Amino acid sequence: MILTKLSDRNQEDALLWRRIVAGLEKEVLRLPPSERAWIASRLERIGRLQEELHALFLQGGGPEACRDCGGACCDRGRHHATLVNLLGFLLAGSQPPLPDFARPCPFLGEGGCLMEPSRRPFNCVTFICDAIEDRLDAAGREDFYARERELGALYGEFDARYAGSSLRGILIRASRLKDADLLAPAVGAVV
Ligand code: SF4
Repeated sequence: MILTKLSDRNQEDALLWRRIVAGLEKEVLRLPPSERAWIASRLERIGRLQEELHALFLQGGGPEACRDCGGACCDRGRHHATLVNLLGFLLAGSQPPLPDFARPCPFLGEGGCLMEPSRRPFNCVTFICDAIEDRLDAAGREDFYARERELGALYGEFDARYAGSSLRGILIRASRLKDADLLAPAVGAVV
């Protein structure tokens, strides 16, 4: 019974995901040039910051730490992906990886995360466990948290502008918005 409910939920989320991607693709095609430029400039900065955060994760021995623990922090990633992450793929004319909602995180493949660091969810690139943090020196830790703050502010700009943007994840936002556009102005947005 529990397994049936889980499988129903996985199928529902897979359908919702397909609806989200198809709808957002159409919205992206309709974007006026100025709005596309607004998004593109921020996505570029987000991608760079995320790569820098990933470099610090590597500097702190991230892959070895993840191998030793089995990757526990990728165990509950269903709601990590946001509008920003999807826009990263769609604005570049590519497709996000196909999610498998039966896995602990739908984007966790056999060889690790299916998304490159520049397009990973905020929650994923800004999390480092104690084992990694302990291996960074004071300057490395300071760099990491300064970049996390800047990245959070950029994701916040999307939250303030678009109804579909939230760190609670695109599945939750899209369910709440039902058929409304994800790129519709957020409540109280000044654009
Ligand atoms: S999106 Fe990638 S990094 Fe984030 S929880 Fe899923 S597999 Fe892990």
